Amino acid sequence: MDCRKKTNSEQTIDPVFLKAALDDVGAYIFTKDLNGCYTFANKKVLELFAISLNDLIGKDDSHFFDSKGTRQLSSNDRRVIEQGETIESEEHNIIKVSGDQKVYWSIKKPIYDDNGKIIGMCGISTDITERKHLEHKVQEQNKLLDAVLNNIDAYVYMKDNNHTFHYVNNKTAQLFGLPADQIIGKRDTDILPQEIADHFRQLDNKVFVDNQKHAGEESFIDKEGNSYHYWSIKVPFKFEDNLQTLIGFSTDITDLYKLKEELQLQATTDALTGLYNRRYFYEQANREFSRSNRQQQPLSLLIIDIDHFKKVNDQFGHLIGDEVLVSTATNFLALIREADVLARIGGEEFAILLPDTPPGAAAKMAERIRRFQSHQKITGKWNGSINITISIGVAVIKHTDKDFNDLFVRADKALYQAKQQGRNQVQLNY
Ligand code: GH3
Ligand code: MG
Ligand code: MG
Repeated sequence: MDCRKKTNSEQTIDPVFLKAALDDVGAYIFTKDLNGCYTFANKKVLELFAISLNDLIGKDDSHFFDSKGTRQLSSNDRRVIEQGETIESEEHNIIKVSGDQKVYWSIKKPIYDDNGKIIGMCGISTDITERKHLEHKVQEQNKLLDAVLNNIDAYVYMKDNNHTFHYVNNKTAQLFGLPADQIIGKRDTDILPQEIADHFRQLDNKVFVDNQKHAGEESFIDKEGNSYHYWSIKVPFKFEDNLQTLIGFSTDITDLYKLKEELQLQATTDALTGLYNRRYFYEQANREFSRSNRQQQPLSLLIIDIDHFKKVNDQFGHLIGDEVLVSTATNFLALIREADVLARIGGEEFAILLPDTPPGAAAKMAERIRRFQSHQKITGKWNGSINITISIGVAVIKHTDKDFNDLFVRADKALYQAKQQGRNQVQLNY
C-alpha cells in the first residue's frame, strides 16, 4: 500500500532543519496518514526497523511488528484518527527485524488541516523496556520480601526515631490487633498503651543513641491481659534522606521464659511447704552474713525443730504429718517480717534469718513463735485436732565468726540444749 501524501507541516517548515532536529531527539518520532501508513519517521525509527525513509513511507506497522503488537498499535491509531483522541499509553510489541521485545511509552495526536479536518497523526515514543524490566524486578523482589516477612515466625517492624512505624509484618499487626496499614505512619503511643510503648522505647532509644545493634528481653500484655515475652534484636537503618530508623526482629520466648521462671522457683523453693529450700537459704545467709560484717549490723538466726514429730507420723500417718508441716510453715510465715528469710532446711526443721536484729529482739521473736505454735490446734481431714510444740535455738553474729557456718553451729547447739532441757522452749547461744 502506498499512501504518500504531503502534510501541512512539511510545506511550512524547512524539512532539512526539521529532520536534523528530530533525529537528535532521543525518542521515536513519526507521522502516519489516515490509513495508518508512515508519512515520516526520524532516524531512530529507521534504525529500529533497519529501513530507509523512502522504503518506510507508505508502509503500515504490520511490516515491522508482530501481529499482536500491530493490533494494539493500529487500534490506538484508529482512536486518534477516527475519534480525534490524544492517547498516552504503554505499547508492547516485538520488532520483526531484530526479534527484540520492546515496551514504549507513546503519545499519539491527530494532525489537522487548515479546515480542522484530521489528515493524519503524529506520535512520539520512548523506549521504557529497561525501566519496565527494573520495575518488574523490584515488584518481584517486593513480593518475595513480603512472602518471607509475612511467613517468618518473628515479629518484624521498622520504626523511626520519632517512634513512628514505617513497616510491620502480618504477625506484628495481628499482635497489635490492627491491620498493617492502620499501624504504618502512626506513632507507638497511638496504638499501644503508654507503659508498653515506654517499655519498647528503652531498647529503641539505645539503638538511636549509639547507632548500634542492641538485643534484649521485652514483654507485651495483649488486650485480654495475656503476657508474652520476646527476645528482640534491633538494628539501626539509615534511609538515603538520613531518616534514622531501626528494624526490629522479635521472637516469642514466652514458653521458654515461663520454663525459666518455673525452674528458678523449683531451684529455690521447697515443694511441700512453698518456703525457700536449704540451698537457697544458705545462699541468702552467706550474703547477709557478709553484708552484716561489712556494715557492722547485727544478724540473728533461729533454728526450729518440731518436737516429737515421729509421734505425729506414727499416730496419724505420713500424709497427715505432711499437712502438719505445711500448717506450721504457714504460721511461721505469718509471724516474720519482710526482710526475714524463712526456709525449710530439713524434714521438720526450719530456719529464720533475721537481718539487722539484735539478740534481745531475736529472743523475743523466737519466744513469740514458740508460744503461738504451742497454742495452735491443727485441724483437717482427720478427727479432732493436732497440737505440736517446737524447740528453738537462737544465735547472733559475733565479730570472731569466720563465716555463716560459725553462727549456724551456735544456733544448732542452742537447739540441742532446748531439746535436752525438755523441748517446747527457746535457748540462746550468744
Ligand atoms: P525431737 O525432734 O523432738 O527429738 O523428736 P522427733 O520425733 O521430731 O525426732 P527427729 O527430729 O529425729 O525426727 C524427725 C521426724 O520427722 C523423722 C521423720 O519421719 C519425720 N519427717 C521428716 N521429714 C518428713 C516429711 O517430709 N514428712 C513427714 N510426714 N515426716 C517427716
Ligand atoms: Mg529433726
Ligand atoms: Mg523433731
